[in-house]
Amino acid sequence: MTSADFQSDMSPEAISVLICESSSVQLRILSEAVRQAGYSVQTASTAEEALNFLNLMPVDIFLTGIEVGSVSGLEACWSLKSNTETESVYTIVITASGEDRRLEESLDAGADDFIRKPVNMTELRARLRAASRLVRMQKQFRRLAETDALTGAANRRAFMQYLEMKAQYATRDDTPLSVVMVDLDHFKTINDEHGHAAGDAVLIETVDAIQACLRDGDMLGRLGGEEFCIVFPGAGLHSAALAGERIRAAVEAMTIKTEAGVAIPVTASLGIASLGHDDLIAAPDLLLQAADAALYRAKSGGRNRVELDNGQSQPDHGLRAAG
Ligand code: GH3
Ligand code: MG
Ligand code: MG
Repeated sequence: MTSADFQSDMSPEAISVLICESSSVQLRILSEAVRQAGYSVQTASTAEEALNFLNLMPVDIFLTGIEVGSVSGLEACWSLKSNTETESVYTIVITASGEDRRLEESLDAGADDFIRKPVNMTELRARLRAASRLVRMQKQFRRLAETDALTGAANRRAFMQYLEMKAQYATRDDTPLSVVMVDLDHFKTINDEHGHAAGDAVLIETVDAIQACLRDGDMLGRLGGEEFCIVFPGAGLHSAALAGERIRAAVEAMTIKTEAGVAIPVTASLGIASLGHDDLIAAPDLLLQAADAALYRAKSGGRNRVELDNGQSQPDHGLRAAG
């Protein structure tokens, strides 16, 4: 899940359906009907093909016949339900009429629903609507569980999951990855002087300002209080340092006023670390520790500045804020 996905997840989107049928005629009829009902449709003619597809790209609903190649539709359902990545896919099995034994088997195999052949399209659409209601509710719960309620940034758990996944990919593909730790300066004073609500407004504005500096694939998480972290997959220390400086400047440029019209100056200190730049920093928690240590130096060095891991600050402290 990229940060952009995280955002776009907020808006309603088409429910995706993967249809698996061995008969190409039947597959075409079903996919046309489902597509016309407003779903985004993928097709497979064997369960193996369907499972391969689902490994690459999860869908919301899996609609499958039973006799669909050497792996049956029921085995495919079972396989989906026993994998944490795909267990939430809603599965509907198409059973031949008079095969009530298979009905029981289908439900035991983890199918969430079934529909009898010959498929009545009105019934199929009604069942897909019922499935969509559940899928949407589930997505809503997942979003709530992954999002920081105040700012809308990813919460610590969702952020760490994303970081762990991206760090694994980066190690596997030998590509760079960096994290940027951001901590607001003297935030306690902002609360003390302007009140907690003003402090909250600063947190919300800060997240908006940081998000505006990010690209697809970057993700911002609120690790706690006034501390944030951004993961930049594909970025080495140098690119992350440039992004960090843009973020520092964007936070400093925010104009936030209290209800009485008093301006609240806000600055942040940033610490940056990169994966693979030191072999010791292979694990996400070590990477965060290294970024934290850099952040600590940014604080002790006077705040409102960016520091890199292992004292690799730019010559002349080029990333230090002017003034
Ligand atoms: P430093 O520059 O060293 O980071 O100083 P600081 O004041 O920012 O750091 P400190 O850790 O002393 O204070 C953080 C403050 O953030 C204290 C806490 O009350 C406040 N805080 C934490 N979460 C929230 C929140 O959700 N809303 C508001 N308004 N304040 C919060
Ligand atoms: Mg702080
Ligand atoms: Mg802090």
